[in-house]
Amino acid sequence: MNDTTTTIAQLRDMMRDFVVQREWQRYHTPRNLAVSAAVEAGELLELFQWDDAAPAAAGNLERVQLHRQRVGEELADVLMYLMSLANSLNLDIAAAVQAKMQKNIEKYPADKVRGFYERPVPS
Ligand SMILES: [Mg+2]
Repeated sequence: MNDTTTTIAQLRDMMRDFVVQREWQRYHTPRNLAVSAAVEAGELLELFQWDDAAPAAAGNLERVQLHRQRVGEELADVLMYLMSLANSLNLDIAAAVQAKMQKNIEKYPADKVRGFYERPVPS
């Protein structure tokens, strides 16, 4: 599997099958899944906690590869919980991303914010 050939539906089905095969649906409530996604996001953040001691800065290829693997694992944890959340709420992820991206495009017009970020003044 890779990003080029795998659909969101396939990943959602894989997550759904994992949950159903273990009869864990009763644990996968929207609240539990939202909390779990945030917990996993914290684990992802922890990997970047001490930026000045990041493996890349140390120039140790083995440590860099291990760090990259761990980042991938935590990123997967976050995404899997979010997909399970979408499954539990029957939310279409692609439609939600598209709608939110459209809001962001309107909130941050490229010709007005190119090269810098500034929080928009509420209107
Ligand atoms: Mg984790």
